[in-house]
Amino acid sequence: MNNIVEKKTMYDTVMQQFNKTADAIKLDSEIRKILEATTNEIVVHFPVKLDDGKIKIFTGYRVQHNNVLGPYKGGLRYHPSLDINDAKALAMWMTWKTSLVGLPYGGAKGGIQLDPRDYSLSELERISRRFTYALGDNIGPEYDIPAPDVNTNEQTMAWIADTYMSTKSASERSRSKHVVTGKPVGSGGLEGRDRATGFGVFLNIKLWYQSKNESLKGKTFIVQGFGNVGYWVSHFLSGEGAVLIGVQDAHATLYHKEGIDVVDLHNHCKPRKGSIKGFNGAKEISAADFFGLDCNILIPAAMGNQITSDNAYKIKANLVAEGANGPTDAEGEAILLNKDIIIIPDILCNSGGVIGSYFEWLQNRNGEIWHLEEVMSKLEKKMTEVFRKVESIVKEGNIDWRSAAFILAITRIETAYKQRGIFP
Ligand code: NAD
Repeated sequence: MNNIVEKKTMYDTVMQQFNKTADAIKLDSEIRKILEATTNEIVVHFPVKLDDGKIKIFTGYRVQHNNVLGPYKGGLRYHPSLDINDAKALAMWMTWKTSLVGLPYGGAKGGIQLDPRDYSLSELERISRRFTYALGDNIGPEYDIPAPDVNTNEQTMAWIADTYMSTKSASERSRSKHVVTGKPVGSGGLEGRDRATGFGVFLNIKLWYQSKNESLKGKTFIVQGFGNVGYWVSHFLSGEGAVLIGVQDAHATLYHKEGIDVVDLHNHCKPRKGSIKGFNGAKEISAADFFGLDCNILIPAAMGNQITSDNAYKIKANLVAEGANGPTDAEGEAILLNKDIIIIPDILCNSGGVIGSYFEWLQNRNGEIWHLEEVMSKLEKKMTEVFRKVESIVKEGNIDWRSAAFILAITRIETAYKQRGIFP
């Protein structure tokens, strides 16, 4: 007998979640066939000249899962572990997320298999531009609209938008600006898009405590990942008196029982390619001790499949707010639910990002400029509405939050297929 146990992938996790929901709602078996498949899986290999004059071939992905509700939408990730299976899983989560929050979008995801720390800024620019060129009309402002994800940011989006627009005729150019969202404000970006995801995670946590008549003051939290999402959620939580006591990134794990200063940590990261390592306002501990830290709230805001049967039993937090996509696998989730730990699922918890992206897309499409206060208040209204809807399904059905969010998301897509039928 072969004793090798294959490591679970994000794709295993998303399919397990989908199948569980499809069974629970008795999803039409014909529609189930459509939703378990990804519509397009694009893999491109493209050459880039590096700073030393040598050519390197890179592999990029774009998976378009489903567009029954509108154009494909989802981020681009630059990471050495990214493969087609990860892109498929992340694209599916985007379909459920956009449906859950009621946006006129479908789901997609992609990126390039690389570690950006291995390349200079000008190499990253050439890689991003050449990737955009290789994707060609597989993306487009009314067809498939990428956004930032792990290791990509507003600069990456500016290069992509510029490259895409440069390949269009002069008269079409400015109509193509919304080919990506998450652009810098000076290049068609939305005020507040940078903080939208972290703010949404914060708001979900705040609303959850409000439902229990509790405030955030004095609550302790730990964050895995101190990039865009991890930083901004920490910023908003600490603004309401919650205390960051532990943080982990790809390079170090820090702990300080009395509280870690979010501003100081952020300033420490800036000149160090985002790394928290070496911060002197906390002590470095073993990575394996992170999940077991005694706290009220755990926020995974890094990679997928982080909370598993290997560590879920150690978790002491009573609320897990998923900033990352797919951070909890099926076994990890079963352990948490058994311990009565509440999980606010990714497709609800981190949906502030795609809602912000939708606002940016509308702003570009209509030639408008929205102010920060307007953006944040629209975001808060939309997210509160979705939170309350999911909360009511949780209460009515006496079920967990992920099941409730998935039921709402997948039922909406089923309804759209039933109304339209299948061509021809
Ligand atoms: P980012 O690149 O800005 O930051 C990623 C952080 O995770 C960094 O601090 C990095 O060091 C850390 N990290 C990477 N590998 C790790 C590991 N193995 N262990 C611990 N830490 C690790 O990325 P981001 O935009 O903040 O995205 C984080 C998560 O949130 C991802 O799952 C992403 O899909 C999800 N998300 C992001 C957005 C968005 O708007 N940026 C929206 C929705 C969901």
